[in-house]
Parts: sequence; C-alpha cells; structure tokens
Amino acid sequence: MTLLQTRNLTRQFGGIRAVNDVSFALERGEIRGVIGPNGAGKTTLVGMICGRVPPSAGTVEFDGANITRLQPWDRVARGIVYTFQITSVFKRLTCRDNVALAAQRRLTRTTGHRFALPQALLDAAVDEAMAAVGLTEETERIAGELPYGHQRLLEIAMGLALKPALLILDEPTQGLAPGDIAPFCDLIRRTAATTTILFIEHNLKVVLELADRVTVMDRGAILAEGTPAEIEQHPAVQQAYLGD
Ligand code: ATP
Repeated sequence: MTLLQTRNLTRQFGGIRAVNDVSFALERGEIRGVIGPNGAGKTTLVGMICGRVPPSAGTVEFDGANITRLQPWDRVARGIVYTFQITSVFKRLTCRDNVALAAQRRLTRTTGHRFALPQALLDAAVDEAMAAVGLTEETERIAGELPYGHQRLLEIAMGLALKPALLILDEPTQGLAPGDIAPFCDLIRRTAATTTILFIEHNLKVVLELADRVTVMDRGAILAEGTPAEIEQHPAVQQAYLGD
C-alpha cells in the first residue's frame, strides 16, 4: 500500500531545477535508499517531503491526504519525521532531556495532558527510545560527551520518540566509525518493523545491504529505481553513479 506519493514535484532555485518533475512513491513498511551524485537533488526532494522546502510545483500526498501546504511540524504530527544531516542534539543537555523534548511534543498532542504531563509517562517514552537504539546505559549522560556515533544514535532515538510512520534519515552513516555501521544497520532493520524508512546515503555498500528498494537521482530527476540487485546491474547507474 502506498504511504507517500509525490506528483510532478519541482523545485527551482534561480535558474537551477534542483528537483524536476519528480513523481516518487514509497510503500508502507519498506526501507528505501536514495543515492546519486552531489547536487542530484536528494536533499531538496526530502526537504519537500518533510516540509522544509516549499515546492515550486507539484504535490505531496501522505497516507492518502494532500500535505503539500502543511508546515513541517504539522507533518511531524502526521508521522513524517526527519533527522538532520547535521546533528540536532542539544549538546549540554542529558540524553534523557534531549529525547524528552521530542517525546513531550508527541505526548502533549496524543494524550491531552497539555500542561501536566505525568513524569512517568515521559520517562517511559524516553527509556523505550533509548533502549531501541541501544543507549540505555548512556541515558543520564551529557549528550555532548558521547562519542560521535552515539550522538547520531541519540538523534535517531529523538526521532523514534516521535513514533514516526515515516522516518527520514539524511546520510545517517556519515562520520560513523566502521565498527558502528553494522549496529546501525541492525537498528534500521529493527525500526523497519514498525516504521517506513527513507534514507539518503553516500555509502553504497550500506544502501545495497539495507534497502528493499533503491532510487537513483541525477540532475534533479529519478534515473533508476529497483532492488539493490537491479540497481547494481543498471547500465545507466554504473555509468552515472558507480563510475566504472
Ligand atoms: P549532496 O549529495 O551534495 O547533498 P543533493 O543530491 O542532496 O547533494 P541538493 O542539495 O538537493 O542535492 O541540491 C540540488 C541542487 O540545488 C544543487 O545544484 C544545489 O546547489 C541547489 N540548491 C539546493 N539548495 C539550494 C538553495 N537553498 N539555494 C540555491 N540553490 C540550492
């Protein structure tokens, strides 16, 4: 079943069509990787899906509703959660407080406890998200003191605390130590049991290993789409992206 559908989505920056007439669909429950050279339009496409970038033309439908004109936070409320390419963690707060900020926004919306959210409810939401990313032991630590790879996981915990229907990750393995990549892939696979995942990734090995389907973008358009095996074999992809 289709969860997300863009139709003829276009974004122009001056004379540049960063995204040009893109119709893109995501099925509920899939893990989709997006690859493509620098400047292909990947971040702009994702920005239009999560509401950070207004489109010049075209529409975005989510869960059957036209959300093209919704603000980012209204999209979060519908379950579209984007974690930033540049880490958005508050470095001087504890991990608990960082995740609580995200959880609080969701819980005040979903429980009706607008002014006096029970502490136990908030604590349970934080503990659940921290456990999901394997950081339970770090919960009371100052976020900025965690190793970089763990700060990236914390960022995902903040996303999970919002209970996303669609989790969007922009270059999630960038800057991770090689030893952190396998645990990250495990986390994404576990998360995919309850959440559709869309991720932009330059590490081709991670994309081919993790994604159910891969979308290749080039110069603002979709160049190819398919399973990892199909994408590896695609002649245009080999020429334009894999280089050899
Ligand atoms: P990368 O892999 O380098 O992040 P990308 O595939 O995500 O690249 P985008 O960041 O979407 O590509 O950029 C697509 C094109 O749009 C580029 O030519 C870029 O310079 C241009 N662009 C993106 N954002 C803006 C902006 N805010 N103002 C002007 N031009 C922009």
